[in-house]
This record gives sequence, C-alpha cells and structure tokens, in this order.
Amino acid sequence: MENVALLKCEQYDVDLIEKKLREGFELLGGDEFLRKLIPKDSKVLLKPNMLSVESKESPVVTHYAVFEAVIRIVKEYSNYVSFGDSPGFGDSRKAAEKSGLMEVADRYGVKFEDFKESVHVRLDNSILCKSWNVAKAAYDADVVITLPKLKTHAMAYYTGAVKNQFGCIPGTQKATWHTRMPDANNFCKMLLDLNTAVGTNFAILDGIIAMEGNGPKSGQAFNLNTLIMGQSLTAVDSTAVRIIGYDNPLDTPVLKEAYDSNWGVVLPKDINILGEKLEDMKAKNFKLCRKGGNFYFINPAVTNFLRGMIAPNPTLIQEKCIGCGRCAEVCPEKPVVITMVKNGDKLNPKWNMNECIRCFCCQELCPVGAIETKYSTLGRLLKLNKR
Ligand code: SF4
Ligand code: SF4
Repeated sequence: MENVALLKCEQYDVDLIEKKLREGFELLGGDEFLRKLIPKDSKVLLKPNMLSVESKESPVVTHYAVFEAVIRIVKEYSNYVSFGDSPGFGDSRKAAEKSGLMEVADRYGVKFEDFKESVHVRLDNSILCKSWNVAKAAYDADVVITLPKLKTHAMAYYTGAVKNQFGCIPGTQKATWHTRMPDANNFCKMLLDLNTAVGTNFAILDGIIAMEGNGPKSGQAFNLNTLIMGQSLTAVDSTAVRIIGYDNPLDTPVLKEAYDSNWGVVLPKDINILGEKLEDMKAKNFKLCRKGGNFYFINPAVTNFLRGMIAPNPTLIQEKCIGCGRCAEVCPEKPVVITMVKNGDKLNPKWNMNECIRCFCCQELCPVGAIETKYSTLGRLLKLNKR
C-alpha cells in the first residue's frame, strides 16, 4: 500500500501552502519521514514545471508560492538546494525569472541550474530505453523532488508527476525523443525510464489552479484547490487523474504503461489516500483534453491500422494564429511536416499529415493557443472523443 497526502488549499498564499504541506508531511510520517527523504545536507534538486517563458500567475507553470513553501521546509533539512528545468521552448533562465521562481530562489539562496550540461546514463533495468543523456544537475542530486503543475496534455492526456521530468532532458534533445517514440505508449514508457534514470524521490503536485481543456499550454485555468504529495509518482498521478475525471487511471497512457510494466503503484486499491477524501475533492465539469477508451480487434494489425486512422490531428484555429512560425520550428519530424504558407497578408502553418507523428509539440508550444487537437470523423464515430 502506498501513501499519498491529499490536501485542500484554495489560495496561492505561501504561509497557507506551507501549513498545508507540513500537514501533508505529518500525515506521511512527520520529521522522521522527512529525515529519511532528505538526509542531512544532501544535494536536493527541485524540479518545477517551467514549460515555457510564462508570467507569474500563469496556470502553465508551477506557482512561485508553492515553490517558496517547499523551499522553507526543505531548507530545514539541507543547505544544498538547487532548482532547474529545461523548457520546451525558450531560455530556462528567462523562464525562471518571468515566472517569479528566480526571485524566490535568490531570497533563500537556492541555486539555479539551467540544465544545459548533460551526462550520459546507462539504464540496465529499463522498460524500453537503456541509453540516456539527462541534465547533469538532476542526475547528480542526492534527492530529486518534482514539483509538477496539474494540467491536461494533448499526447499524454494529463501531465503531472511522471511527465514533469521530461524537462530533465536538455534543450533540443527533447525533440529527438518525440521522433524516436512517435506513439503515446512508447513515449510514456520512455518517461518512466527517464524517472528511473534521474531517480525522482518525491512529488508535490500543484493543483491549486490546474489547467483544463487545450493543455498543457493553451487551456483554461481551473480552481481545483488541490495539493497532492507522495513518494510514488504514479500514486500521486493516479489520485490526480481520478480527481479531474478519469474513473479508471488506466485510461491515461502513462498510468496504463506504468501498470503494465509494474512500474510503481497505480490502482486505487493499492493507494492509501491520507488527508482529504477523494470523493470530496473531485472536480465537477473539468474539461479533459482526451478521454480514454481502448478498443481492440482480434487481429492486432487491424487494431493498429484503425488507431492510425482515428488518431487526433493538430488543427489550426485560424483567427488566433499570428504567423510566428514557432510550430514549424519545434516540429521534430523530418521530412518537414509543417510549412508556412501565405494566407492573405499573413502566414499560416500547413500540415502534411502523412508525416505527422502526433507528438503535439506544435500544439504545446504555440504561443497563442492557435492549435488544438481534433479527431477524425471515424475517431468520433468510434466514440473515442468523449469530451
Ligand atoms: S499556429 Fe501558433 S505557432 Fe504556428 S504560426 Fe500560428 S501562432 Fe505561430
Ligand atoms: S506537426 Fe505537430 S504533432 Fe505533427 S509531428 Fe510536427 S509537432 Fe508533432
């Protein structure tokens, strides 16, 4: 049985969040638990979600008040605390500054790591990927505490504790992984291996204001008033997806792959939720990005063929597009999938869907939310799109 602490917190007030997190640690075992988690003066790396350069109140990134509350507690156990991330697009230092994380870190003497230096890691007990280049600062840390933001995600349906560590892959190397792992299932296996390689020790999920709809960057803020913490990343994620509307955690690709690979605790019956009752915290009318719904035919080739035909497509919201070309820039696929074409007096992206691997990097990193995911008619007929 794996413990997670589920806490209700309705404001980004640092004193209140600190109080809640202390309650959470108390439920998990108090000072003794913390001493084991953070041996005295060990090197602790905090990994917030800094997806891109976003302003302080943005629901895209981990809130600076959660970050500060975590630092206050962690600093009682170690003086060697650092933080870092590698955004999907843009400079990590600028992302840390604009989101308010850098100012907090400077006040507490927490060192910034830009995650540009990588180290090669070999993982013999992997599910899928044995060879890794990961951010040296994350790999070298004795304790890695991930601080994800609870959001929807076009490819993985949901992003939380497991997915947050994708930022431990430096810069443009992230795009390579999308090309190597074009389908969501293998991509999620890769994420699990990455967490093993980095050695993530604990997760504190910021779901005070979460993101619904066209996540992980262009959805809407949703007051979920939730913090979830625990040692098992999958148990934290499993609890989170049940709160936002997945009755079965196995309907989300990361948790399905984790369960199939026996990587962490996933099933509700194996998770002991401490603190708030899950039923009391369930969101009403949270707009999921994608809803699970597996279908199988006797012949696996038919299943795979149909999966390709029903997969959602990146689709332009014409009136929002500013013609910046970032979507074409971040697309990892070769030959070129997106070309910028003239449309009146501006440029718009045009997709060659025969080459698209549906990684949704274009959707994720469009600065104005001008790309959404849409199912084909067949996909809708098969009722895989239930939003
Ligand atoms: S879709 Fe988004 S990223 Fe692509 S050109 Fe338009 S605004 Fe830029
Ligand atoms: S067009 Fe978008 S979804 Fe398709 S491969 Fe490129 S980035 Fe991925």
